[in-house]
Amino acid sequence: MPEETYHGIARKEIPWHPTIDYEKCTNCGTCVKYCALGAYEFLVIQVEKKPIVKNPSNCVVFCTGCEEQCPAGAISFPSKKETRKIILKLKKEKLKDPLAPSNSVATPLSSFNT
Ligand code: SF4
Ligand code: SF4
Repeated sequence: MPEETYHGIARKEIPWHPTIDYEKCTNCGTCVKYCALGAYEFLVIQVEKKPIVKNPSNCVVFCTGCEEQCPAGAISFPSKKETRKIILKLKKEKLKDPLAPSNSVATPLSSFNT
C-alpha cells in the first residue's frame, strides 16, 4: 500500500519518483510489471502502448528498484542528496508550523535517518 506520509511530511510534497527517457524506452513493460505499488501504468494509444508514471506518489521514497530492472537504462531518479535536503526543509517548516496541512503529526528531526 502506498505511503501517505514520510516522516510526517505528506508524500505528495516529496519530489521523488521515476522519470522515463522515451528516447531509450522500448516499451517492454518490465517497469509496469515490476512496481507492485502501481507507480507505472501503460498508456494505450490506438494499437500502441507505452509506460507512463501515472501515480508518482505511489513510489516509495528513495526506492530505485525499477531503475535496475530496466533493460534499456531508461529510468532515472532525482538526486538522493537533493531530495534529503528538500525533505529536511519541509520537516523544519512543519516543526515551525505544526498546523500546516499534513496527514500526520510531525516526528522530531532527530528521528530522520535515511
Ligand atoms: S522497463 Fe525501461 S524500457 Fe521497459 S517499458 Fe519500462 S522504461 Fe521502457
Ligand atoms: S522505485 Fe520502487 S516503488 Fe518506485 S516506481 Fe520503482 S519499483 Fe516502484
